[in-house]
Amino acid sequence: MTMSKSPAEIFGYSFPDIRETQLLIVGGGPAGLSAALQALKLGLKVTLVESGLELGGQLVKQTHKFFGSSLERAGTRGFRIAQELIKELTPFKGSGQLEVYLSTTAIAVYPERIVLLSQLSGKVFPIKPKAMIIATGAQERMLPFPNNDLPGIYGAGGIQTLMNQYGVKPGKRALIVGAGNIGLIVAYQLLQAGVEVIAILEAMDRIGGWWVHAAKVRRYGVPILLKHTISRAIGKEKVEGAVIAEITPDGLKDKYQVECDLIGISVGLTPTVDLLRQANVKMKYVAFMGGFVPLRDREMRTSQSWIWVAGDSAGIEEASTAMIEGQIASTSVAKWLGYISEEEAKREIDQLWARLGYLREAEVSSKVRKGLEEVLVTWGG
Ligand SMILES: Cc1cc2nc3c(=O)[nH]c(=O)nc-3n(C[C@H](O)[C@H](O)[C@H](O)COP(=O)(O)OP(=O)(O)OC[C@H]3O[C@@H](n4cnc5c(N)ncnc54)[C@H](O)[C@@H]3O)c2cc1C
Repeated sequence: MTMSKSPAEIFGYSFPDIRETQLLIVGGGPAGLSAALQALKLGLKVTLVESGLELGGQLVKQTHKFFGSSLERAGTRGFRIAQELIKELTPFKGSGQLEVYLSTTAIAVYPERIVLLSQLSGKVFPIKPKAMIIATGAQERMLPFPNNDLPGIYGAGGIQTLMNQYGVKPGKRALIVGAGNIGLIVAYQLLQAGVEVIAILEAMDRIGGWWVHAAKVRRYGVPILLKHTISRAIGKEKVEGAVIAEITPDGLKDKYQVECDLIGISVGLTPTVDLLRQANVKMKYVAFMGGFVPLRDREMRTSQSWIWVAGDSAGIEEASTAMIEGQIASTSVAKWLGYISEEEAKREIDQLWARLGYLREAEVSSKVRKGLEEVLVTWGG
Protein backbone atom coordinates (compact mmCIF):
# COMPACT_ATOMS: atom_id res chain seq x y z
CA MET A 1 0.00 0.00 0.00
CA THR A 2 1.48 3.34 -1.03
CA MET A 3 0.32 6.50 0.70
CA SER A 4 0.93 9.06 -1.99
CA LYS A 5 -1.88 11.51 -1.17
CA SER A 6 -1.30 14.25 1.37
CA PRO A 7 -3.49 14.64 4.50
CA ALA A 8 -5.08 17.68 2.89
CA GLU A 9 -6.14 15.64 -0.15
CA ILE A 10 -7.40 12.74 1.94
CA PHE A 11 -9.20 14.59 4.73
CA GLY A 12 -10.17 17.67 2.76
CA TYR A 13 -8.31 20.00 5.10
CA SER A 14 -4.84 20.45 6.48
CA PHE A 15 -4.13 19.96 10.15
CA PRO A 16 -4.06 23.32 11.96
CA ASP A 17 -1.27 22.77 14.48
CA ILE A 18 1.28 20.29 13.40
CA ARG A 19 3.64 19.43 16.24
CA GLU A 20 7.26 19.38 15.23
CA THR A 21 10.00 17.19 16.62
CA GLN A 22 13.62 16.56 15.75
CA LEU A 23 13.57 12.80 15.96
CA LEU A 24 10.45 10.62 15.97
CA ILE A 25 11.06 7.05 17.08
CA VAL A 26 8.23 4.64 16.32
CA GLY A 27 8.26 1.58 18.59
CA GLY A 28 9.39 1.36 22.21
CA GLY A 29 11.05 -2.09 22.14
CA PRO A 30 14.78 -2.62 22.70
CA ALA A 31 15.64 -1.03 19.32
CA GLY A 32 13.50 2.08 19.90
CA LEU A 33 14.55 2.49 23.54
CA SER A 34 18.25 2.22 22.73
CA ALA A 35 17.84 4.59 19.81
CA ALA A 36 16.12 7.08 22.13
CA LEU A 37 18.86 6.86 24.78
CA GLN A 38 21.64 7.33 22.27
CA ALA A 39 19.89 10.29 20.62
CA LEU A 40 19.21 11.94 23.99
CA LYS A 41 22.83 11.47 25.09
CA LEU A 42 23.91 13.17 21.86
CA GLY A 43 21.61 16.14 22.61
CA LEU A 44 18.69 15.55 20.24
CA LYS A 45 15.05 16.19 21.05
CA VAL A 46 13.14 12.93 20.83
CA THR A 47 9.51 11.90 20.55
CA LEU A 48 9.00 8.19 21.25
CA VAL A 49 5.67 6.58 20.37
CA GLU A 50 4.61 3.11 21.43
CA SER A 51 1.31 1.49 20.59
CA GLY A 52 1.37 -0.72 23.70
CA LEU A 53 0.41 0.23 27.24
CA GLU A 54 4.05 0.17 28.34
CA LEU A 55 7.54 0.46 26.90
CA GLY A 56 9.79 -2.57 26.35
CA GLY A 57 8.37 -4.35 23.30
CA GLN A 58 8.96 -8.11 23.35
CA LEU A 59 11.27 -7.77 26.33
CA VAL A 60 8.48 -7.26 28.86
CA LYS A 61 7.26 -10.83 28.40
CA GLN A 62 10.64 -12.53 28.41
CA THR A 63 11.41 -14.04 31.78
CA HIS A 64 14.53 -15.97 30.69
CA LYS A 65 18.12 -14.78 30.85
CA PHE A 66 19.49 -13.44 27.57
CA PHE A 67 22.51 -14.70 25.67
CA GLY A 68 24.98 -12.58 23.74
CA SER A 69 27.58 -10.23 25.15
CA SER A 70 27.73 -8.50 28.52
CA LEU A 71 27.76 -5.14 26.70
CA GLU A 72 24.27 -6.05 25.47
CA ARG A 73 23.21 -7.19 28.97
CA ALA A 74 23.56 -10.96 28.44
CA GLY A 75 22.74 -12.92 31.59
CA THR A 76 19.94 -10.51 32.45
CA ARG A 77 16.30 -11.51 32.13
CA GLY A 78 14.46 -9.85 29.23
CA PHE A 79 11.95 -7.89 31.33
CA ARG A 80 14.80 -6.62 33.55
CA ILE A 81 16.60 -5.32 30.43
CA ALA A 82 13.44 -3.37 29.60
CA GLN A 83 13.31 -1.99 33.16
CA GLU A 84 16.98 -0.93 32.96
CA LEU A 85 16.52 0.84 29.63
CA ILE A 86 13.38 2.63 30.85
CA LYS A 87 15.21 3.72 34.03
CA GLU A 88 18.01 5.20 31.93
CA LEU A 89 15.42 7.33 30.13
CA THR A 90 14.08 8.76 33.41
CA PRO A 91 16.58 11.64 33.80
CA PHE A 92 15.52 12.95 30.39
CA LYS A 93 11.82 13.09 31.27
CA GLY A 94 10.76 16.60 32.18
CA SER A 95 13.95 17.99 30.62
CA GLY A 96 12.07 19.13 27.54
CA GLN A 97 14.27 16.79 25.52
CA LEU A 98 11.99 13.73 25.59
CA GLU A 99 8.31 13.17 24.95
CA VAL A 100 6.87 9.66 25.31
CA TYR A 101 3.44 8.73 23.98
CA LEU A 102 2.10 5.34 25.10
CA SER A 103 -1.01 3.66 23.64
CA THR A 104 -0.18 5.65 20.51
CA THR A 105 0.19 4.08 17.10
CA ALA A 106 1.84 5.66 14.09
CA ILE A 107 -0.74 4.85 11.45
CA ALA A 108 0.38 6.74 8.36
CA VAL A 109 3.38 8.41 6.77
CA TYR A 110 2.94 11.18 4.21
CA PRO A 111 5.43 12.46 1.66
CA GLU A 112 5.54 15.89 3.35
CA ARG A 113 7.34 14.19 6.25
CA ILE A 114 4.15 14.08 8.29
CA VAL A 115 3.30 11.09 10.46
CA LEU A 116 -0.20 10.53 11.76
CA LEU A 117 -0.51 9.28 15.34
CA SER A 118 -3.63 7.58 16.68
CA GLN A 119 -4.23 7.22 20.41
CA LEU A 120 -6.26 4.63 22.29
CA SER A 121 -8.46 7.49 23.52
CA GLY A 122 -9.54 8.08 19.92
CA LYS A 123 -7.46 11.19 19.39
CA VAL A 124 -5.62 11.39 16.07
CA PHE A 125 -2.95 14.01 15.44
CA PRO A 126 -0.08 14.64 13.03
CA ILE A 127 3.56 15.19 13.89
CA LYS A 128 6.32 16.49 11.66
CA PRO A 129 9.76 15.13 12.48
CA LYS A 130 13.04 16.11 10.88
CA ALA A 131 14.09 12.47 11.07
CA MET A 132 12.32 9.23 11.93
CA ILE A 133 13.56 5.85 13.15
CA ILE A 134 11.15 2.99 12.51
CA ALA A 135 11.57 0.28 15.15
CA THR A 136 8.22 -1.45 14.91
CA GLY A 137 9.45 -5.02 15.53
CA ALA A 138 7.82 -8.11 14.08
CA GLN A 139 4.59 -10.08 13.78
CA GLU A 140 3.97 -13.78 14.29
CA ARG A 141 3.27 -16.03 11.32
CA MET A 142 0.20 -18.23 11.29
CA LEU A 143 -0.06 -21.75 9.88
CA PRO A 144 -2.87 -22.87 7.57
CA PHE A 145 -4.66 -26.03 8.81
CA PRO A 146 -8.33 -26.94 9.26
CA ASN A 147 -9.93 -25.33 12.32
CA ASN A 148 -6.98 -23.01 12.94
CA ASP A 149 -9.44 -20.31 14.03
CA LEU A 150 -10.79 -22.19 17.05
CA PRO A 151 -10.48 -20.39 20.40
CA GLY A 152 -7.49 -21.86 22.22
CA ILE A 153 -5.12 -21.54 19.26
CA TYR A 154 -2.57 -18.76 19.75
CA GLY A 155 0.68 -17.52 18.38
CA ALA A 156 3.40 -18.41 20.90
CA GLY A 157 3.97 -14.70 21.56
CA GLY A 158 0.27 -14.35 22.40
CA ILE A 159 0.63 -17.12 24.99
CA GLN A 160 3.61 -15.27 26.48
CA THR A 161 1.62 -12.05 26.66
CA LEU A 162 -1.24 -13.78 28.47
CA MET A 163 1.02 -15.55 30.96
CA ASN A 164 3.89 -13.18 31.58
CA GLN A 165 2.22 -9.82 31.13
CA TYR A 166 -1.36 -10.44 32.29
CA GLY A 167 -0.86 -13.42 34.64
CA VAL A 168 -3.40 -15.60 32.81
CA LYS A 169 -2.90 -19.37 32.55
CA PRO A 170 -4.02 -20.00 28.96
CA GLY A 171 -4.91 -23.72 29.22
CA LYS A 172 -4.28 -27.05 30.92
CA ARG A 173 -2.83 -29.23 28.12
CA ALA A 174 -0.81 -27.71 25.33
CA LEU A 175 0.60 -28.75 21.99
CA ILE A 176 3.36 -26.54 20.58
CA VAL A 177 4.09 -26.32 16.85
CA GLY A 178 7.65 -25.15 16.11
CA ALA A 179 10.92 -25.97 17.89
CA GLY A 180 12.73 -22.69 17.28
CA ASN A 181 13.78 -20.61 20.29
CA ILE A 182 10.37 -19.05 20.76
CA GLY A 183 8.50 -22.39 20.68
CA LEU A 184 10.97 -23.97 23.08
CA ILE A 185 10.96 -21.03 25.50
CA VAL A 186 7.17 -20.76 25.51
CA ALA A 187 6.86 -24.52 26.08
CA TYR A 188 9.20 -24.21 29.07
CA GLN A 189 7.29 -21.25 30.47
CA LEU A 190 4.02 -23.19 30.13
CA LEU A 191 5.57 -26.07 32.09
CA GLN A 192 6.69 -23.61 34.76
CA ALA A 193 3.12 -22.29 34.95
CA GLY A 194 1.82 -25.83 35.58
CA VAL A 195 0.49 -26.48 32.07
CA GLU A 196 1.07 -29.98 30.71
CA VAL A 197 2.91 -29.86 27.35
CA ILE A 198 2.11 -32.97 25.30
CA ALA A 199 4.72 -32.45 22.58
CA ILE A 200 6.59 -29.93 20.46
CA LEU A 201 6.28 -30.53 16.72
CA GLU A 202 8.99 -29.48 14.29
CA ALA A 203 8.67 -29.70 10.51
CA MET A 204 12.44 -29.71 9.94
CA ASP A 205 14.68 -32.70 10.62
CA ARG A 206 16.44 -30.74 13.39
CA ILE A 207 15.66 -28.43 16.28
CA GLY A 208 15.93 -24.80 15.16
CA GLY A 209 16.48 -23.22 18.60
CA TRP A 210 19.41 -23.16 21.01
CA TRP A 211 20.22 -26.61 22.54
CA VAL A 212 20.00 -25.16 26.03
CA HIS A 213 16.31 -24.29 25.56
CA ALA A 214 15.60 -27.74 24.05
CA ALA A 215 17.41 -29.45 26.96
CA LYS A 216 15.19 -27.64 29.48
CA VAL A 217 11.94 -28.98 28.01
CA ARG A 218 13.40 -32.44 27.43
CA ARG A 219 14.28 -32.61 31.13
CA TYR A 220 10.52 -32.34 31.76
CA GLY A 221 10.03 -35.35 29.47
CA VAL A 222 8.40 -33.39 26.65
CA PRO A 223 9.00 -35.12 23.28
CA ILE A 224 10.21 -32.98 20.39
CA LEU A 225 8.91 -34.71 17.25
CA LEU A 226 11.02 -33.84 14.22
CA LYS A 227 9.47 -33.97 10.71
CA HIS A 228 6.02 -33.70 12.30
CA THR A 229 3.35 -31.05 12.14
CA ILE A 230 -0.28 -30.44 13.02
CA SER A 231 -2.66 -31.59 10.30
CA ARG A 232 -5.86 -30.31 11.93
CA ALA A 233 -7.33 -29.03 15.15
CA ILE A 234 -10.36 -30.77 16.65
CA GLY A 235 -13.25 -29.03 18.41
CA LYS A 236 -16.50 -27.15 17.87
CA GLU A 237 -16.67 -24.14 20.18
CA LYS A 238 -13.02 -24.35 21.27
CA VAL A 239 -9.94 -26.55 20.85
CA GLU A 240 -10.43 -30.05 22.20
CA GLY A 241 -7.60 -31.84 20.43
CA ALA A 242 -5.34 -32.09 17.42
CA VAL A 243 -4.15 -34.55 14.80
CA ILE A 244 -0.38 -34.81 14.48
CA ALA A 245 1.04 -35.88 11.12
CA GLU A 246 4.44 -37.07 10.00
CA ILE A 247 5.93 -35.19 7.05
CA THR A 248 6.99 -37.80 4.51
CA PRO A 249 8.21 -37.52 0.90
CA ASP A 250 4.64 -38.55 -0.10
CA GLY A 251 2.96 -35.85 1.98
CA LEU A 252 1.43 -35.68 5.45
CA LYS A 253 0.63 -39.00 7.16
CA ASP A 254 -1.71 -38.65 10.14
CA LYS A 255 -0.09 -40.48 13.06
CA TYR A 256 -1.48 -39.44 16.46
CA GLN A 257 -4.67 -37.89 17.79
CA VAL A 258 -4.19 -36.03 21.07
CA GLU A 259 -6.45 -34.19 23.52
CA CYS A 260 -5.48 -30.59 24.31
CA ASP A 261 -7.16 -27.27 25.06
CA LEU A 262 -4.27 -25.08 23.91
CA ILE A 263 -2.25 -25.02 20.68
CA GLY A 264 0.73 -22.66 20.41
CA ILE A 265 1.97 -21.83 16.93
CA SER A 266 5.57 -20.75 16.71
CA VAL A 267 6.55 -20.88 13.07
CA GLY A 268 8.49 -17.69 12.72
CA LEU A 269 8.18 -13.95 12.70
CA THR A 270 7.94 -11.48 9.88
CA PRO A 271 9.11 -7.84 10.08
CA THR A 272 6.42 -5.18 10.64
CA VAL A 273 7.07 -2.94 7.66
CA ASP A 274 3.72 -1.23 6.96
CA LEU A 275 5.05 2.26 7.68
CA LEU A 276 8.17 1.67 5.61
CA ARG A 277 6.01 0.58 2.70
CA GLN A 278 3.75 3.61 3.06
CA ALA A 279 6.82 5.82 2.99
CA ASN A 280 7.89 4.21 -0.29
CA VAL A 281 11.12 2.95 1.20
CA LYS A 282 12.93 0.55 -1.16
CA MET A 283 12.29 -3.00 0.07
CA LYS A 284 13.50 -6.46 -0.85
CA TYR A 285 12.17 -9.93 -0.05
CA VAL A 286 14.90 -11.71 1.87
CA ALA A 287 13.77 -15.05 3.27
CA PHE A 288 16.81 -15.16 5.60
CA MET A 289 15.54 -12.00 7.30
CA GLY A 290 11.89 -13.05 7.64
CA GLY A 291 10.24 -11.45 4.57
CA PHE A 292 10.22 -7.99 3.04
CA VAL A 293 12.88 -5.79 4.62
CA PRO A 294 14.15 -2.31 3.83
CA LEU A 295 17.38 -1.76 1.96
CA ARG A 296 19.64 0.25 4.26
CA ASP A 297 23.20 1.55 4.43
CA ARG A 298 25.57 0.67 7.26
CA GLU A 299 24.13 3.60 9.26
CA MET A 300 20.63 2.00 9.06
CA ARG A 301 19.43 4.78 6.74
CA THR A 302 16.80 3.79 4.18
CA SER A 303 16.20 5.01 0.64
CA GLN A 304 14.11 7.87 2.11
CA SER A 305 16.81 10.17 3.43
CA TRP A 306 14.82 11.15 6.56
CA ILE A 307 13.95 7.58 7.57
CA TRP A 308 16.16 5.11 9.45
CA VAL A 309 15.27 1.60 10.62
CA ALA A 310 16.38 -0.60 13.53
CA GLY A 311 15.64 -3.97 15.12
CA ASP A 312 13.29 -6.69 13.93
CA SER A 313 11.54 -4.36 11.47
CA ALA A 314 14.88 -4.30 9.62
CA GLY A 315 15.09 -8.13 9.66
CA ILE A 316 14.32 -10.76 12.31
CA GLU A 317 17.19 -11.08 14.72
CA GLU A 318 17.71 -10.57 18.46
CA ALA A 319 17.17 -7.92 21.10
CA SER A 320 20.95 -7.58 21.50
CA THR A 321 21.47 -6.63 17.85
CA ALA A 322 18.28 -4.53 17.84
CA MET A 323 19.73 -2.37 20.62
CA ILE A 324 22.96 -1.79 18.71
CA GLU A 325 21.12 -0.99 15.48
CA GLY A 326 19.05 1.58 17.38
CA GLN A 327 22.24 3.25 18.58
CA ILE A 328 23.74 3.22 15.09
CA ALA A 329 20.62 4.82 13.63
CA SER A 330 20.57 7.59 16.24
CA THR A 331 24.27 8.29 15.83
CA SER A 332 23.68 8.70 12.11
CA VAL A 333 20.70 11.01 12.71
CA ALA A 334 22.82 13.11 15.10
CA LYS A 335 25.49 13.44 12.42
CA TRP A 336 22.91 14.43 9.80
CA LEU A 337 21.43 17.07 12.08
CA GLY A 338 24.87 18.44 12.96
CA TYR A 339 25.06 17.26 16.57
CA ILE A 340 28.29 15.34 16.08
CA SER A 341 31.04 15.51 13.49
CA GLU A 342 31.59 13.05 10.66
CA GLU A 343 34.69 11.72 12.43
CA GLU A 344 32.94 11.22 15.79
CA ALA A 345 30.02 9.48 14.12
CA LYS A 346 32.30 7.21 12.12
CA ARG A 347 34.30 6.22 15.20
CA GLU A 348 31.13 5.45 17.17
CA ILE A 349 29.45 3.56 14.31
CA ASP A 350 32.62 1.52 13.64
CA GLN A 351 32.66 0.48 17.31
CA LEU A 352 28.99 -0.46 17.21
CA TRP A 353 29.57 -2.52 14.05
CA ALA A 354 32.40 -4.36 15.82
CA ARG A 355 29.91 -5.33 18.55
CA LEU A 356 27.41 -6.45 15.91
CA GLY A 357 30.13 -8.52 14.24
CA TYR A 358 30.89 -10.28 17.52
CA LEU A 359 27.21 -11.08 18.13
CA ARG A 360 26.73 -12.30 14.55
CA GLU A 361 29.69 -14.69 14.64
CA ALA A 362 27.57 -17.56 16.00
CA GLU A 363 26.46 -20.35 13.65
CA VAL A 364 22.78 -19.48 14.32
CA SER A 365 23.49 -16.03 12.82
CA SER A 366 24.61 -17.44 9.47
CA LYS A 367 21.18 -16.64 7.98
CA VAL A 368 21.44 -13.03 9.11
CA ARG A 369 24.93 -12.73 7.66
CA LYS A 370 23.65 -14.02 4.30
CA GLY A 371 20.59 -11.76 4.48
CA LEU A 372 22.69 -8.68 5.13
CA GLU A 373 24.64 -9.29 1.92
CA GLU A 374 21.36 -8.71 0.08
CA VAL A 375 20.15 -5.56 1.86
CA LEU A 376 23.23 -3.52 2.75
CA VAL A 377 23.71 -0.79 0.17
CA THR A 378 25.56 2.47 -0.29
CA TRP A 379 23.26 5.36 -1.16
CA GLY A 380 24.63 7.68 -3.80
CA GLY A 381 24.80 11.44 -3.46
C1 LIG B 1 10.10 -15.92 23.20
C2 LIG B 1 11.22 -15.01 22.70
C3 LIG B 1 12.50 -15.19 23.21
C4 LIG B 1 13.54 -14.36 22.81
N1 LIG B 1 14.78 -14.52 23.36
C5 LIG B 1 15.80 -13.67 23.04
C6 LIG B 1 17.10 -13.78 23.65
O1 LIG B 1 17.36 -14.65 24.48
N2 LIG B 1 18.05 -12.87 23.30
C7 LIG B 1 17.78 -11.88 22.39
O2 LIG B 1 18.69 -11.04 22.15
N3 LIG B 1 16.57 -11.78 21.77
C8 LIG B 1 15.58 -12.65 22.07
N4 LIG B 1 14.35 -12.56 21.44
C9 LIG B 1 14.18 -11.64 20.34
C10 LIG B 1 13.89 -10.23 20.79
O3 LIG B 1 12.85 -10.19 21.74
C11 LIG B 1 13.52 -9.37 19.59
O4 LIG B 1 14.49 -9.56 18.58
C12 LIG B 1 13.52 -7.90 19.99
O5 LIG B 1 12.50 -7.67 20.94
C13 LIG B 1 13.34 -6.99 18.79
O6 LIG B 1 13.32 -5.68 19.26
P1 LIG B 1 12.55 -4.53 18.47
O7 LIG B 1 12.68 -3.31 19.32
O8 LIG B 1 13.02 -4.50 17.09
O9 LIG B 1 11.04 -5.03 18.41
P2 LIG B 1 9.95 -5.30 19.56
O10 LIG B 1 10.56 -5.75 20.82
O11 LIG B 1 8.94 -6.17 18.92
O12 LIG B 1 9.34 -3.85 19.79
C14 LIG B 1 8.61 -3.18 18.77
C15 LIG B 1 7.64 -2.24 19.44
O13 LIG B 1 7.05 -1.42 18.45
C16 LIG B 1 5.69 -1.20 18.78
N5 LIG B 1 5.00 -0.82 17.55
C17 LIG B 1 4.82 -1.58 16.43
N6 LIG B 1 4.19 -0.88 15.48
C18 LIG B 1 3.96 0.36 15.99
C19 LIG B 1 3.35 1.55 15.48
N7 LIG B 1 2.88 1.61 14.21
N8 LIG B 1 3.26 2.64 16.29
C20 LIG B 1 3.77 2.60 17.56
N9 LIG B 1 4.37 1.49 18.09
C21 LIG B 1 4.48 0.40 17.31
C22 LIG B 1 5.25 -2.54 19.35
O14 LIG B 1 4.11 -2.40 20.17
C23 LIG B 1 6.49 -2.97 20.14
O15 LIG B 1 6.43 -2.56 21.49
C24 LIG B 1 13.29 -13.37 21.83
C25 LIG B 1 12.00 -13.19 21.29
C26 LIG B 1 10.96 -14.00 21.73
C27 LIG B 1 9.58 -13.76 21.16
